Amino acid sequence: MRVEILTIGAELLLGYTIDTNAAFMARALSEIGVAVVRHDTVGDDPELIARAIRDGLERTGAVITSGGLGPTADDRTRDGLAAAFGRELVTDPEALSQVERRFRLFGRTMPKINVVQALVPRGARVLENRFGSAPALWMEDERGRWVITLPGVPSEMRGLLTETVIPILREREGGAAPTVVASKTIRTTGIGESALAELLGEDGGDAVAGLPLAYLPGWEGVDLRITAAEMPVADAERALAEATRRLRERAGTYIYGEDAADLAAVVLDLCRERSLTIAIAESCTGGLIGARLTAVPGSSDVFVGGVVAYANSIKQSMLGVPEELIRRVGAVSEEVAKAMAAGARERTGADVGIAVTGIAGPGGGSAEKPVGTVWVAVQIGEDVRTFGRVYLGDRGEVRSRAAQAALDTARGMLTQPR
Ligand code: AMP
Ligand code: MG
Repeated sequence: MRVEILTIGAELLLGYTIDTNAAFMARALSEIGVAVVRHDTVGDDPELIARAIRDGLERTGAVITSGGLGPTADDRTRDGLAAAFGRELVTDPEALSQVERRFRLFGRTMPKINVVQALVPRGARVLENRFGSAPALWMEDERGRWVITLPGVPSEMRGLLTETVIPILREREGGAAPTVVASKTIRTTGIGESALAELLGEDGGDAVAGLPLAYLPGWEGVDLRITAAEMPVADAERALAEATRRLRERAGTYIYGEDAADLAAVVLDLCRERSLTIAIAESCTGGLIGARLTAVPGSSDVFVGGVVAYANSIKQSMLGVPEELIRRVGAVSEEVAKAMAAGARERTGADVGIAVTGIAGPGGGSAEKPVGTVWVAVQIGEDVRTFGRVYLGDRGEVRSRAAQAALDTARGMLTQPR
């Protein structure tokens, strides 16, 4: 089954309300194997609503809408629905008594304007809304093409979708084997989108083991999302496992986890398995690495602490970075990062020292060391590795990327020891 989602409301178009309904509906529908093939948004205009519904019916034959069913004059979805089907609006006695019952339940008299919520296009099926006053509607034409209109209030939409709409759709599917739309996210870091695509290239880069592959870049790295659509559960699981195996084969060293994996938690686990402790020495990241590590429950058995060494004087006094070194090569340099990592280990007695120094911007750059220049150093025993990069992006992004790179350098050393 393929459906389109149409969300309705001027506040959505203007960006004042984030369209969480479309996301919720798409996920819930995917779980029962309904393929959502399009999202549209229109304002509260009956003509535009009618046209969007008609277009959706032409394309897919199934449209689920949210929003615009309120009692006030700005909510026009029922007019749009009536126009799309060329029907008139009539008062539905069952809908009217449902609206009245809602008000009685809360001991209030129904304001006159709520009567419009009982107006439905002739022939519509009224779906009772026990979460609010606006009944949802089901309209179907002689060719079996259908529209369901749901209220915009997220809790009402969610309640109706799960309790009423999904059972109806399951019933319509009848004896068909249950299918799912299942996705998996493979999280990579330390490699750009295009380089990753080249690495995975064999299938043209947009598919793996026959499943569509999406590249989702962000400051944490590039997430690879694979989706198995409209397949029986067991087939989807098998296809996702096979696709994951192939991705790991080709891009294994850049992969730090799946789905909601957090690199800080991965590094903590790797250290815990090896009974190693971590200390940090952070300049431009100002404690971000420490914050990420301590955000993970149970980090205290690995993370001991460290120094936010922002001023050069603190790099010297608290980490033992030689003044002469800073003068000679500058605070943002490979050598100073190394000295910071060594200092963090020495001063705390931790096994792993993680250090970052850089220029987060927007000021402070030079021709030789532009804004975004970052040096990372990690020391574990005798093994010292460094990583230098000039990151694009604003101050927040440079800092976040630097923290991620530092954690990933540690991960690389722990998983591929020399
Ligand atoms: P409506 O049913 O159009 O009167 O919408 C009622 C309220 O639900 C609006 O004021 C919004 O705050 C919220 N809402 C409507 N549509 C959405 C949507 N697509 N996503 C999230 N919230 C929404
Ligand atoms: Mg509205």
